[in-house]
Amino acid sequence: MSNTTKRYYIAVDLEGVACTIGTPGQGLAQGSAGLEYASLQGTREANAAAKALFDCGADEVWIWDCHGTGYNLKYDMLDKRCKIVMGAGSGKRFPCIEEGFAGVLFIGYHAYDTSDAVLCHVYSSATFQHQKINGSFVGEAHIDGAVAGKYCVPVIFASSDDICISQMGEAFPWAETVVTKRSLAWNSCISDHPEKVCDNIYAGVKKAVSRIGEMQTFTYPENFEYEIRYKRIEPAQGCHYRNPDGTLFSRPDAYTRVGVMRDVEDIFK
Ligand SMILES: [Zn+2]
Repeated sequence: MSNTTKRYYIAVDLEGVACTIGTPGQGLAQGSAGLEYASLQGTREANAAAKALFDCGADEVWIWDCHGTGYNLKYDMLDKRCKIVMGAGSGKRFPCIEEGFAGVLFIGYHAYDTSDAVLCHVYSSATFQHQKINGSFVGEAHIDGAVAGKYCVPVIFASSDDICISQMGEAFPWAETVVTKRSLAWNSCISDHPEKVCDNIYAGVKKAVSRIGEMQTFTYPENFEYEIRYKRIEPAQGCHYRNPDGTLFSRPDAYTRVGVMRDVEDIFK
């Protein structure tokens, strides 16, 4: 890749896309009623972002299908110039990201656990209660943004529900954003029309590229405090996270583990 090649990485989760509220008790799990529509709308929203990037001169756009098993989007509907990152099991967020990407974009992410945020959770709503870094609640977008930041790639754009977008502002206030829907409850929202959301994403991504010089990288310092709280005792008991000195994370109560994490990517090892 030459230094002048413009490459972008679009991460596509599904909870935050337009007209998506999941199913009570299941969210957007495999086989749930809302997953099919969310996958279709996630595809449209990713495509709107990709088209804007190509129209702004991108040479390469990678689309990462990162909800659940990583096998959700309607691949043949995506812009045929895109590379498609899919599946699970690599143990990597932003697989194969490296220095030289011009920016990452978040489509369809969701809030961390917060009252009335649509489908809010971290990683698995069945397994985890929350995660904290240096005492503050953080969501998947914070962590993924910091993984990209480790490779000097800035978050330049995000679209999701209003609460998720306001949480992302804690980490990447420079990013251009689009609100897809207003959260009312875990399974309720007032959404903008799905086609209107795609139009807004196309315009927002173009604006983000025009402001690329203002974008910054987001990182956590090495050796940050990481706390993870589980919903059941067994995974807290079996948690294998270790401090840099090799000791297991401490357990202040039956459900919580806390300790020092050397690097943001160690969360997934
Ligand atoms: Zn998801």
